[in-house]
Amino acid sequence: MNEYDSNRIADLAIEQGYILTDKILDTDCYVLNTCHIREKATEKVYSDVGRLKKKFRNKKKPIVLITGCVAQAENENMLKREPYIDAVIGPQSYQHISKILSELDKRKKKINSTEFDVIEKFDKISKIKNTESKVSSFITIQEGCDKFCNFCVVPYTRGPEFSRSPVDIINEAKNLISNGAKEITLLGQNVNAYNYTKGKEKFKLSYLINNLEGLERLKRIRYTTSHPKDMSKDLINCYRNTKKLMPFLHLPVQSGSNNVLKNMNRKHSRDEYLAIIKDLLKIRPNMKFSSDFIVGYPGETDKDFEDTISLVKEVNFINSYSFIYSPRPGTPASKIENVNNTIQKKRLITLQTLLKNIQIKKNHNEVGKFKEILVENKLKNQEVYFGRSSDLTPVIIKEAKSFDIGNIVKVKIEGFNHHSLSGTKKIIKNEEAA
Ligand code: SF4
Repeated sequence: MNEYDSNRIADLAIEQGYILTDKILDTDCYVLNTCHIREKATEKVYSDVGRLKKKFRNKKKPIVLITGCVAQAENENMLKREPYIDAVIGPQSYQHISKILSELDKRKKKINSTEFDVIEKFDKISKIKNTESKVSSFITIQEGCDKFCNFCVVPYTRGPEFSRSPVDIINEAKNLISNGAKEITLLGQNVNAYNYTKGKEKFKLSYLINNLEGLERLKRIRYTTSHPKDMSKDLINCYRNTKKLMPFLHLPVQSGSNNVLKNMNRKHSRDEYLAIIKDLLKIRPNMKFSSDFIVGYPGETDKDFEDTISLVKEVNFINSYSFIYSPRPGTPASKIENVNNTIQKKRLITLQTLLKNIQIKKNHNEVGKFKEILVENKLKNQEVYFGRSSDLTPVIIKEAKSFDIGNIVKVKIEGFNHHSLSGTKKIIKNEEAA
């Protein structure tokens, strides 16, 4: 989502007359878009700004904007602690960026813009052309969260659940497709909680997927990140009714133990999670899954951890994120006593070893097969191309040509490692002749 936001922030600055540069010392305005989910995120912002200060020691100071969830969480404090920062702008206030830049251009005054104006934000953003031109592009359709998992800061930094208008989303998709997008990933903190109401009509994520399916030049549809509680029947049915929706789902479970799920306030049980997986596999037997795991959550026992391990073995996740629990200030879980750190580390190693072995085994099994790969770009300074399989595995492709970018090609898989596959494009006869 921050990648999408960064692009939209750039579009807003472009509206104000700025252009993008990759030469840091040329910048008149430096935007640091931040994420608050990892530990020590705030301190990292201050050290980045410190580095920037050193670089510009003998030059005119650029305008420095801190955007994203760290800006939201820290707001006024950042301006007080680091005078080099000119403005802090929360994720629901990006609609003000053009105005803030114009004010900062004129006079030096610190600006704190961290109010929650999500409706106004998307009104503004929808009116500005999305200049993104990647083969695989993102669209934020939903923001915020009402779930209040006991460990998470998102409901406090991104605010309550909000869904954008389907008309704006479809228009943005058409615009991205005309820019060259062949794959669109719909984004939201709780993307499958998407629920837009107009009068008596309700529009859900399945409505958007079915509409995107009809857009001619679009080849692939994905969405992330989902909550198990919102895997509704209509959404599951999309896997039956659509061809472009990819057979891969990132569905965070966090733990395989009912006790821990309850303590986390996840609002679903282990069995409910497994029932979703079963329903999806019934419709698409080739479906693959990935997940997020928190290891060593307060109160997690050896038995609870064993339940996570057995769930991983049962679902065979092909790619997952796993972290040791770390408290976030202000969350209910931060007030509970932590599991011993040595135990946490041991459990993380056990889990990550298992996840890695599953991934390696799956990638190994792909060798010798022909896979359909969407070619995204050529790798810098190399005669190979980059693409992804339907289950999002990165693939390095030999023998592809520049005209393959944006197309789905058949690749014979010849090599693999933990994270990726490699292979050779299968040459189709008339192409050989050309
Ligand atoms: S559902 Fe996701 S975003 Fe919402 S509180 Fe839980 S972990 Fe955070």
